Amino acid sequence: MLLHPVLVLDKTYYPVAVFSHKKAFLLELLGKCEVLEHYTSVFLSSPTAKFPAPLTIRIPVLLRHWQTGAPTRRAVFIRDNFTCGYCGKVVKDGEATIDHIIPKSKGGSWSWENLITSCSTCNQRKGGKTPKEAGMPLLFKPKRPSSFQIDLNRWRSKFNREFLGALSRFGVRWDEEIG
Ligand SMILES: [Zn+2]
Repeated sequence: MLLHPVLVLDKTYYPVAVFSHKKAFLLELLGKCEVLEHYTSVFLSSPTAKFPAPLTIRIPVLLRHWQTGAPTRRAVFIRDNFTCGYCGKVVKDGEATIDHIIPKSKGGSWSWENLITSCSTCNQRKGGKTPKEAGMPLLFKPKRPSSFQIDLNRWRSKFNREFLGALSRFGVRWDEEIG
């Protein structure tokens, strides 16, 4: 079944996550969220009835529960939209590598600020050097993303007109939130 994105707001109406419409509908059935808007083009059906899917929901928690933890390889790729930080090439899933900007051998840590997506060519060329030593400046400065940014990047291929409308109504400039 095709999954559609649902905008999730916290108690204070601050955007914190993107859930699938199925998950949001389940929360609605369980009484665990308040549905603020419904899709007009997406439905969930049971054998006897058809329900509009939630588009924007509000859950009774606060933003701080959504802070991003330590990076995983995959989360770094998603943060960087699978784009090599050195040459800008979009790397296929499965071919992306992680580069320590300050190499491990020079004390570089496994952290959001020191990890970047790299194509294998750039990774090999850079080797155990810093970007300066290798003459390979970064195209963007890696930062710790919010988990909402990770969610937006993860869902971006599934964005539809109604969801983009919800983002804009709740003040999310997704082109700025991403990347
Ligand atoms: Zn590259």
